[in-house]
Amino acid sequence: MSPDARTLFAIIALLTFGAGFLLLALWTSMRERAGLRTWAASLFVRAPGFALLAGRGSLPFWMSIDLSNALMCIGSGLGFVAARELSGVRIGRSAAGLIVFAPATLWLVSCQIPLIYEDVILRTIVVAVPLCAYAAATSWAFMGLERTSLRVRLGFCGLWAVAAAAHGMRAVLVVLDPPDLHLTQPSPLFTLTLLIPILTFALGLLWIGVLYREWLLSELRRRAERDWMTSVLNRAGFLRRATACLSVASAPQAVLVMDLDHFKEVNDRYGHAVGDQILIAFCRRVEGLLPAGAVFGRMGGEEFAIALRSRSGEALDLAERLRAAVEASPLLAEDGGRRMTVSIGVASSSGRERDLDRLLAAADHALYRAKRQGRNRVSLADQPDDQSAEGLLSSASPLSGNGVPA
Ligand code: GH3
Ligand code: MG
Ligand code: MG
Repeated sequence: MSPDARTLFAIIALLTFGAGFLLLALWTSMRERAGLRTWAASLFVRAPGFALLAGRGSLPFWMSIDLSNALMCIGSGLGFVAARELSGVRIGRSAAGLIVFAPATLWLVSCQIPLIYEDVILRTIVVAVPLCAYAAATSWAFMGLERTSLRVRLGFCGLWAVAAAAHGMRAVLVVLDPPDLHLTQPSPLFTLTLLIPILTFALGLLWIGVLYREWLLSELRRRAERDWMTSVLNRAGFLRRATACLSVASAPQAVLVMDLDHFKEVNDRYGHAVGDQILIAFCRRVEGLLPAGAVFGRMGGEEFAIALRSRSGEALDLAERLRAAVEASPLLAEDGGRRMTVSIGVASSSGRERDLDRLLAAADHALYRAKRQGRNRVSLADQPDDQSAEGLLSSASPLSGNGVPA
């Protein structure tokens, strides 16, 4: 192997190690994506494979040919398993073991058979065919990457597809125009089929940086929009999603504002930790009853809101179902304590008025009315664009209408 090619392989080996650590770092911040760890493992296996290739000519053949190709096969197999895991598909242990180790074992056995090892055609095919299959399967698996933009998925898919084509072409070329056994003078085309997968792999490593940024940003956005305790949307997340949900022109829109009754008493009597558990249980209960497309969030303290594209009748039905479900749930420790209840204000609009703030203000208005009338009840707001809602929005003065306090 020429010194230039050796330098190239040494650089790729270092790059591969670096990318492996990058993936491990990403995995430590999102451990639910086990595929990241598998992907890092695939790079840690391939890195010494590249380093051994760099030593071809200086190292014994069993290291620079036998072992390096075996490591390439194992690393590629792990890469495929990782891409599947990152697409949400778990491969069973034995199937994964077979996928990762079978081609490498076949290769190592072939190395012990002179008939194959000393025939450049057979030796090339035994490695190029599985590498082609791994690259093609990984290319396809990358298209399913979860929570990843199409741009990034297409990047990985394209790079691995090119690598698969190059490995396949090598298997064909070696038959049509066999080079010498030690590849001292391979044809330019044959050399290209060796170089292309290496270059696409190097570009793939750089592309991991783009993926890293995308996932980290989406994770930060997700955490910024979630309430850390109940893991439902926080106020900012709710307002953003609810605005998007209700922005469809001509669709009816409704907002429910819910507030747990006498929650301070619960805290005082059972302690803050029990109060926290009740808030979490309340959220799970509500989530179980939410219609598709509804947006649910914690507005602060023990106050929650739901936005949905429904007419007032459907919104009232939902509110009543939620109220009854909370009343019927054993949300408090069963020691004879009073049952937890919730009061709900509902506001809806099917007309031209499409302002979330006004709907929230009107639903809040109705909620106070429900509290005033005795709690554990649902109350429907007047039209959100009527005078009382205006009053809520424009000043903190006592509200007109229904005798509701400010
Ligand atoms: P009302 O029926 O009028 O709504 O009475 P309330 O006691 O529920 O309302 P109030 O606003 O007086 O008290 C709300 C309580 O909610 C006070 C506060 O300590 C509690 N709270 C707010 N956030 C949390 C939280 O994250 N965890 C716990 N445990 N309590 C919280
Ligand atoms: Mg309350
Ligand atoms: Mg409150």
